[in-house]
Amino acid sequence: MTAWTEWKAAAEAAENVKETVHQRLQHLLGIEPLTVEQVTFFLDQAKPFQEFQRHPLKKLATLRGKTVALAFFEASTRTRISFATAAARLGADTMNLQAESSSLKKGESLIDTVRTLEAMRPDGIVIRHAASGAPEFVAERLGMPVLNAGDGSHEHPTQALLDALTIRDRLGRLQGVNITILGDILHSRVARSNIHLLSKFGARIRICGPAMWMPPMLESLAPNLCRVPRVEEAIDGADVIMVLRVQTERLHEPALAESDYILRYQLTPERVRLAKPGALVLHPGPMIRGLEIDPEVADGPQSCVLEQVTNGLAVRMALLYHLIGGAPADAPHPAKERLNAAD
Ligand code: ASP
Ligand code: ASP
Repeated sequence: MTAWTEWKAAAEAAENVKETVHQRLQHLLGIEPLTVEQVTFFLDQAKPFQEFQRHPLKKLATLRGKTVALAFFEASTRTRISFATAAARLGADTMNLQAESSSLKKGESLIDTVRTLEAMRPDGIVIRHAASGAPEFVAERLGMPVLNAGDGSHEHPTQALLDALTIRDRLGRLQGVNITILGDILHSRVARSNIHLLSKFGARIRICGPAMWMPPMLESLAPNLCRVPRVEEAIDGADVIMVLRVQTERLHEPALAESDYILRYQLTPERVRLAKPGALVLHPGPMIRGLEIDPEVADGPQSCVLEQVTNGLAVRMALLYHLIGGAPADAPHPAKERLNAAD
C-alpha cells in the first residue's frame, strides 16, 4: 500500500466509525455503553458549539420546527436551564414538565405522563427522574430519542461529557489522566458517569470519602480505580480533583457531623497544593461553599466550575443536534458555518 492509499483507507475508516456512531446511537441513556469513538465524536462535535457561545448572535435555525420535551420529575435548575437554552440556541421549541406542577402529585404514573407528552408530538425527550433506570424504561416504550438528564444514583451522562470536554481542553488529553473524586460516591450519578467515561480513556481514578458513602462493589466499576481513605494521600500528584456535593439531607443518616466532614474531607487551598501544580478543580454544582469546598478554592484560578457550565451548553447542543436533529455524521457543522460566515 502506498502512503496515499493508506491515508485514504484511514480516512475512510474514520468516516465509517462516524457513520456507525451515528447510526447506532438513538438515545443517550448512560456513558457505560458508549465506545471511546462515540465519546470522542460528541466531544469533537461540541467544540464548534463551544466557540459559538461567544458569538454575538447565539441562535441557529438547525432544529427549527422541532420540539424537545423537558420532563423533569426531580428538582433541577441548572441542568434544566442548560438543556432549554441549548434547544433554544438550535432554534427548537421546548415543552416543559416539572414534577411540582404536574399531575404526578395526583398519582399519574411515569409512563402515563410521558405518553401524554408524546401525544403532543415532540421530537425527543430529555428526562430526569429520581429512579435509576427511568430513562431506559421510557426509551423502550416511546418511539423517540430519549436523553438522560440524571436518573437516581445511576448516571448523569451529559455531566460526564461536559466534564470530559473541560478536562480535555485544559490538559490537552483524557488518556491516562490522574483524577481524584472526593465526597459522597454512593449517591452520586455524577461520579458513576465520570468513572465510566474516564476509565475508557485509561484514567487512573482515586476515590476518597467517608466509608459509609463508599459503595461496596466500587472496584468493579473500572479497572484503574482504587479507594484511598486519607484525603491528602488521595490528592497527592492528581491532575484533576473532582469535588462532589455533600447531600446535606443525608449527612445525618448514619451520623457524621458537618464539622467532621470539613476537617477530614473539605478541599482546602493546602490540600490543593498536594496535587500537581495547576491541577484542575471540578464541581458539578450546586456547590456548598464552606462545606465540601473552601470558597478560596471554589473561586481560585484552578477552579473550572463556570467553564463546566458553559461547556454543558455546548455538549447538550451537540447531543440535541445529532440525536433529535438526526444530522448525518458528516454534515457540515452548523456552528462552524455560522462562525465562518462571521469571519
Ligand atoms: N441538581 C442541581 C440543581 O438542581 C444541578 C442539576 O440540575 O443538575 O441545580
Ligand atoms: N447536579 C448534580 C446532579 O444532579 C450533582 C448534585 O446535584 O449534587 O446529580
